[in-house]
Order: sequence, then structure tokens, then C-alpha cells
Amino acid sequence: MGIKDTLCTAGLATTAGASALRGYVPPYDAAAVARLRRAGALVLGKCNCDAFAMGSTTEASDYQVTRNPWDPRCVPGGSSGGSAAAVAAGQCVAALGSDTGGSIRQPAHFCGVVGIKPTYGRVSRAGLVAYGSSLDCVGPLARSVEDAALVLSAISGADEADATSARQPAPDFAAGLQPVRELSDRPLAGRRLAVVAETRGAGVAPGVSGAVDRALAHLESLGAEVGEVSLPTFQVGLPAYYVIATSEASANLARFDGVRYGPRHEAGDLRAMYAGTRHAGLGPEVKRRVLMGTYALSAGYYDAYYKRAQQVRTLVQRELNAALDEWDLLLSPAAPTTAYRIGQVCDDPLEMYQGDLMTVNLNLAGLPAITVPCGFEEPRDDGAARLPVGLQIIGRAFGEADMIGVAHVFE
Ligand code: GLN
Repeated sequence: MGIKDTLCTAGLATTAGASALRGYVPPYDAAAVARLRRAGALVLGKCNCDAFAMGSTTEASDYQVTRNPWDPRCVPGGSSGGSAAAVAAGQCVAALGSDTGGSIRQPAHFCGVVGIKPTYGRVSRAGLVAYGSSLDCVGPLARSVEDAALVLSAISGADEADATSARQPAPDFAAGLQPVRELSDRPLAGRRLAVVAETRGAGVAPGVSGAVDRALAHLESLGAEVGEVSLPTFQVGLPAYYVIATSEASANLARFDGVRYGPRHEAGDLRAMYAGTRHAGLGPEVKRRVLMGTYALSAGYYDAYYKRAQQVRTLVQRELNAALDEWDLLLSPAAPTTAYRIGQVCDDPLEMYQGDLMTVNLNLAGLPAITVPCGFEEPRDDGAARLPVGLQIIGRAFGEADMIGVAHVFE
């Protein structure tokens, strides 16, 4: 297995893609890694990612560019881009990623693999380099739903090293999956699924909508009822996410001060040492976020930004949970476009943030979601390789088994 470099591996360098952790070798395994090893997994190596998991293309890694195996001119997505590319290229059977606002599901969509963001608390965060602690989730990327389910089962469960891990029994998520060829004609009869109406219109690339439409027709042909549900707060989740994620990041990243980890900038006095270390260790995207978060939390602005974002978070949560009271599962594209070209969005942070529209709300609400490959965009005029598209299936809290069962029909 490959392990995203935001997860600590005993004796193996762990950098989170950031210069600030260059040469850092953790003395312990992250809980999810330790559980995998206990289950017999072999760790082949660490996977590249955007520095501190901040980004959507893996171009914000301080180390190297990762290419999309379907088309090397394209990014693999991010921030778990190295994990998704390694799985898509067949370099490992599965990989671990981390997802704060979509970092497992969007690279899975860009690379045509399966990615699961579990319910918040399902998998211990102990040993995960923290980005936004109230949003961060550890989860699998794999080539099949069954493999992803096996890995999720192995890493799930309460952990006393993470006070937010849930005391929920961790079922065997792969146990109920029958071989697809043995499924009855209408395996989804009686299932009530709803597409999020706000993810259907403007802003979604035609290649993505087309593949998602075909996926919905497939679900219907297998007996599911596929309706539509409107979530009016869907669009306001994105700005709320960027306020909350950057606020939490600004606090979490205070620890990279040159005293505890990584390279130190030697200077005459303590302040100059801190400043020099952070100047050299944090890249431009990370600095932007630390500044945004510090600003949003500062006295005088806290009520206008952070508190307001938390209020929006509550509305998003309520609306999603109400929709899931009415429907078994919700559906959307996993991202509005297929994989970007290298260099296409990395100089335009706002355009890049916009690409997280489909995924961030589930982190705000703590709900589980899976990306399953559901086809390809239409053939392109320029003859370039067609890129994969992923369907996002959203479950109720701790309802991963249900969501995994429906995703399985795409295999
Ligand atoms: N692209 C989002 C961000 O940059 C999500 C990242 C993540 O899930 N780690 O914040």
C-alpha cells in the first residue's frame, strides 16, 4: 500500500509535502497505518501531496509534481494526488489519503479510482498531520469498491489516542458485497436516491454532467428510484469551509516553529529564528491560508467571519441531514470538471477553491461519501485521452455500508 505523506510512518520520513518537515522521521505510526500493518499490509512508500494537504492539484507540494496516469499533461488532483496516481498506475493495490474538504474524493475522480471519506470520527486521526481538525478524515483509495471497503474496515474504530474517534462498532464493509455478476436483475429495487439539484447546472463541465447522467440512468435501470433534492445552502458551504479550514490551520500550523520539528533557521534571537524558519518552511499557498485564518480569528473580525461560518456550518449540516431523512443516499458529481492541465489553476487560488464545491459540505457536516468511477467524458476534438469522471454518493452518518453497497454496482 501507499501512504499519503500526511500520515506518520515510524522510521520513514514524513513531510506532509512541506519543506517545514523536510527530514522529519516520526518515532511512531499513525493509528490508521498501525492498524493496516496489523492486518498484514506492506507499506511500499509515501505518496506526494500538496503541502499540509492544502490544495487540489498536488502542485503545491514543496517536493515534486505528480502527473495523472491517464494523461501526463494533467494533474492527479489533490491533495491526495500521489495516492490516487499510485493506485491508478497500478503501483500499489490501495493507498491511504486524508480528506479535509475533498482531498480523497476529488483525486479519485481525476484518476478514475475509488475513494472513501468516512464519517468524521470513524477512523482515528492520531498521527495525521493536522490541517483542519474538525474536518480531517483518513480514508482509502483503491481500484475497486471491494478493496476500498476492506481497507476501511481495517482502519476503522475507536482509538483512545484520538478523543474525537467514535465509539461505533466497525463492521466488515466488504462482507455484504456480492460478486457483481451474481447480483439479481434489480439489486437496487426500493432504494431511494436523490441528486443534489444545485450540482446539476452551471459551472459543471458538460463532460462531467454527461457521464453523471449515464450513471443515474444505470442506477434507475437497476431498480433505484432517482429523484432530485434542492439544498439551498449548498453554495454557501464553500466560503464557510475556507474560513473554518484556514482558521483551524492557522492554529495547527503554529507548531512548525523550528523548535520541535524540521529544519531550523539559526538566528541571533528567538523571534528571528521563528520568522526565518516559517519563511523558509511554508510555501505561498500555506502562508496565504495561515494569514487568512489568523485574520478570521482575530479580535474584531471573529464574529464577522469565524462565528458566521460556524452558523453556516450548522445550516448546511441540518439541511443535509433533513435530506437524508427523506432519501437513502444523495448523489452528485465528485468535482465540477475533469482533471486540470498542469499549471491551469495553480496561479488562481479562487478558481482552484471553486473546484471544491461538490465535496466540502460533507466535511462541514461530518458525513461519509464515496467517489466511484462512473465513466469518461465524451471523446475530445483534439484527440487527447478521455479523462475519467467520478460519481459522489453521500451517506448518513455511520452509513458507509449502504453507500458502499450502491457504489459496488458500478464495478
Ligand atoms: N482542496 C481543499 C483545500 O485545499 C481540500 C483539501 C483537503 O481535503 N485536504 O482545502
